[in-house]
Amino acid sequence: MIRKFISRVLGRKDLAPRPDAAIIAVAQHGLRREQISRGCQRTVETLQENGYQAYIVGGAVRDLLAGLTPKDFDVATNATPEQVRQCFRRSRIIGRRFQIVHVSMGSETIEVTTFRGHHGEHAGNKAQTDAQGRVLRDNVFGSQAEDAARRDFTVNALYYDPSSETIIDYHHGVADLQQKTLRMIGEPKTRYREDPVRMLRAVRLAAKLGLTIDPAASRPIREMADLIDNVPPSRLFDEMLKLLTSGHAVRCVTQLREEGLHNGLLPLLDVILEQPLGECFVMLALEATDRRVDEGKPISPGFLFATLLWHEVLAKWQLLKAQGEPAIPALFVAMDEVLDVQCGKLAITRRIAGDIKDIWGLQPRFEQRSGKRPYGVLQQPRFKAGYDFLLLRAASGEIEPAISEWWTEFLYASDEARAALLLPPQPGEARRRRRRRRSPARQLENPDSTA
Ligand code: ATP
Ligand code: MG
Repeated sequence: MIRKFISRVLGRKDLAPRPDAAIIAVAQHGLRREQISRGCQRTVETLQENGYQAYIVGGAVRDLLAGLTPKDFDVATNATPEQVRQCFRRSRIIGRRFQIVHVSMGSETIEVTTFRGHHGEHAGNKAQTDAQGRVLRDNVFGSQAEDAARRDFTVNALYYDPSSETIIDYHHGVADLQQKTLRMIGEPKTRYREDPVRMLRAVRLAAKLGLTIDPAASRPIREMADLIDNVPPSRLFDEMLKLLTSGHAVRCVTQLREEGLHNGLLPLLDVILEQPLGECFVMLALEATDRRVDEGKPISPGFLFATLLWHEVLAKWQLLKAQGEPAIPALFVAMDEVLDVQCGKLAITRRIAGDIKDIWGLQPRFEQRSGKRPYGVLQQPRFKAGYDFLLLRAASGEIEPAISEWWTEFLYASDEARAALLLPPQPGEARRRRRRRRSPARQLENPDSTA
C-alpha cells in the first residue's frame, strides 16, 4: 500500500509527455475507450493505479483510427518487466532479446512492453549492428519520447490513454493517417538499414490501410531491396506470412513488384510472375486467400506456400521428365529440390513443408480416374487441400478443366453415382499395375497403399 503510494507520488514527475508531443483530444480523433478490449483497459488501469505510465500503442490504435478491427492490443509502459509482473497475478515475462510481459485477462493476453530507448548516443549504449548496419540488439529502456522515435511509421507511434481518451502523438501520426500517408519516422535509408523488414512492413501496412507510402520512404526501397537477403530466414518467413495472410495479398504482391522488392524473396516473385501461366496461378491463389480472410476463414500456410512454389516445382518436374525420368519419382525429386532452397531462405518449418509435400504429391494422383484409386485419393488426410489446389491449376489453364470437373462431381456424388463416374481402365493400365506390384518403387508411386 505504502509502496504503491510512494511510487505513485514519485512517478508523477515523469508522467507528463514531453512538451513537443501533441495531446489530441477525443473530439479530434474520435477513438472511445469502449472500443478498447476490456482486458486491455484493465491492464492499463492497473498499471496507472500503481503509479506507472501506460498506454495502448501501435497497430491497435492505428487500426481503430482507420476503422479496422485490431488483431490484438499492445500496451507500452515505463514500468520495467519485473515491475509489470508484480502488478498482475496472471502474468509472465517472455523473450530473451527484449523482455516483454504477457498479462492474462480472462481469455485475452495483453502484451506489455517497457518503453525502449535510443542507442548510439551514450557510450556503452551503442546498438550492436552487423556489417550492413542491421541492428542486432536493441534492449535499452527509455522514455516515452524515445520509444516513439524508434518505432517505424508515424501512424504506429500513437499512444492512447483510455482514462482521458487522449492520444499522445510525437510524429504527426494522426494527421498522416487522416491524409492517408505512411511516413517513416526519421531518415528512411537509415531506418531500412537498421531493419530491412521495414520495407516489407511499409508495403503491407500501406496495402492494409489504403495508405500511400510517402515518396521519401518509397524511393530508397528499390536500391536497398537486396538488404532483405541479410534478414534471418525465420523473421522473413513470419513477415511474408503476415503479408500473404493480411487479406490484401494481391495488392501487397503487386506493390512489392512495383517497388522492386520481389527479387530473392520467393521464386514466385522472381521467375513465376514473369511466366503468364505462373502469374495467373499465383494471382488466383492470392485472390482466393484474400477472399478467405475476408470471410473469416482460416488460412493454411502449407497451402499458401504450396501455391507460391508450384510453378517452380512444375518447371523442374518437366525438365526431369524430359530427361527420361519416370513421372512420379521425378515429381518427388523436383519437390525436394525446391523445398531445400526455400527452407534455407525462408525457414519453412518441417510441419509446413510436410503439408506442402502432401498437397503436391496428390496432384498426379488426380489424373487416375478409374478402378479403386480415386477412392484411395478421397481418403487422404490432405484431400481437400489437394483438391482446392487442383481447382486452381484448372482455373489457371495449367490442366484440362475436365479433370477438376470430374473430381468435383465424384466428390459430391452418391456411391452409385461415383461408380458410374469411373473411367474405363486406360489401355495398358492393368499390365502396369501387375508390374508395379513386383517393383520396389511401388511405395513411392502409391504412397498411401500401405496406409
Ligand atoms: P500488425 O499487428 O497489423 O501486424 P503492427 O504495426 O501492430 O501491425 P507489430 O509487429 O504487432 O505490428 O508491432 C507493434 C508495433 O511495434 C508497431 O506498430 C510499431 O510501432 C512497432 N514495430 C514493429 N515492428 C517494427 C520495426 N521493424 N521497426 C520499428 N518499429 C516496429
Ligand atoms: Mg500488432
